[in-house]
Amino acid sequence: MPPSRYDPSRAELSELLAGEPRYRVDQVWSGLYERRLDPEDITELPKALRARLAEALPPALAPVTTSTSDDGDTVKWLWSLEDGASIETVLMHYADRSTACVSTQAGCAMACGFCATGQAGYERNLTVGEIVEQAVRAARAAADGPTPRRLSNIVFMGMGEPMANYDRVWAAVRRIHDDIGLSARHLTISTVGIVPGIRRMAAEDLPVNLAVSLHAANDALRDELVPVNRRYPLEQLYAACADYLEAKHRRLSFEWALIDGVNDRRSDADELAVAARRLRAHVNLIPLNATPGWPTTGSSPERVAAFRDLLRALGVNATVRANRGNEIDAACGQLRAEHEVTLRPTRRVAADPR
Ligand code: SAH
Repeated sequence: MPPSRYDPSRAELSELLAGEPRYRVDQVWSGLYERRLDPEDITELPKALRARLAEALPPALAPVTTSTSDDGDTVKWLWSLEDGASIETVLMHYADRSTACVSTQAGCAMACGFCATGQAGYERNLTVGEIVEQAVRAARAAADGPTPRRLSNIVFMGMGEPMANYDRVWAAVRRIHDDIGLSARHLTISTVGIVPGIRRMAAEDLPVNLAVSLHAANDALRDELVPVNRRYPLEQLYAACADYLEAKHRRLSFEWALIDGVNDRRSDADELAVAARRLRAHVNLIPLNATPGWPTTGSSPERVAAFRDLLRALGVNATVRANRGNEIDAACGQLRAEHEVTLRPTRRVAADPR
């Protein structure tokens, strides 16, 4: 990919600005990251320089559709990238925070059968700029909405497996932390359970939150639901999680998509409770959303509530991610068009000319 607006590091930007007064680097950097402006709108720059930057650093994301929920609390974008790949970003407003769910890859190679992204296969890793720009666009939309809000949280829980694109994801985390100014405890990386990635994260200096998409707490079932489990079985995964907690003192969460009759039985709750208690993990229950390539449906609301109550009775901190945002949280797991119907499109625009 040619470099886009949020790809260059500060050093690379300095090179691009060679011949300009030194303070221009700070002006451009603060314009792009703190004020989240287009180069054209960084008014302290001379006009010719603004035009040159706009040309040299085009945006990476062109909106295909922007959908807003009826209550205005969720915005979902489908973006098209330079090479025609497409990804999604979701912005969710809650009473106490605004969270963006960002993608890290176009497609995904992890092949979890129940996940729409997994069913569609892998296209490519996103660049640093493609990841960071999702955060910038969400922050802008939050600030410019009818009730101005500050983007406070980012979850790397969109399309793709963050650990399979580790270097770029981590560079994006640094940029979001250092330059956009979100704190590490408001950033969450969600992984299917790539053990070496968790170990690398434990050695980093930023203590971000770790979420593990568990879905099954015995190897036989997890091998089926999450194929990468054959490579990194549960004991290895739990050991890496324990080391992460030890190193970072951050809360661990387990994601668990409830699949009717598959992982919502009493024995599943028992097994999950043992693991969650051992690692003091918080459990996020998500009723599975139906996808075209997977025959089984999500658990009924009654079974979801019963599973949650069972976990609580077993001493586990468990919440259901559903009440207002079933379609929203689902969007995080199955990014792309088919669930568009649950959100009302407010605006359909042609791809930006680049
Ligand atoms: N690859 C990373 C991040 C992307 S998936 C990971 O696996 O964590 C984001 C979350 O959505 C994961 O917990 C995933 O298991 C879940 N998910 C995927 N498909 C889903 C579906 N059909 N219904 C509900 N959750 C789903």
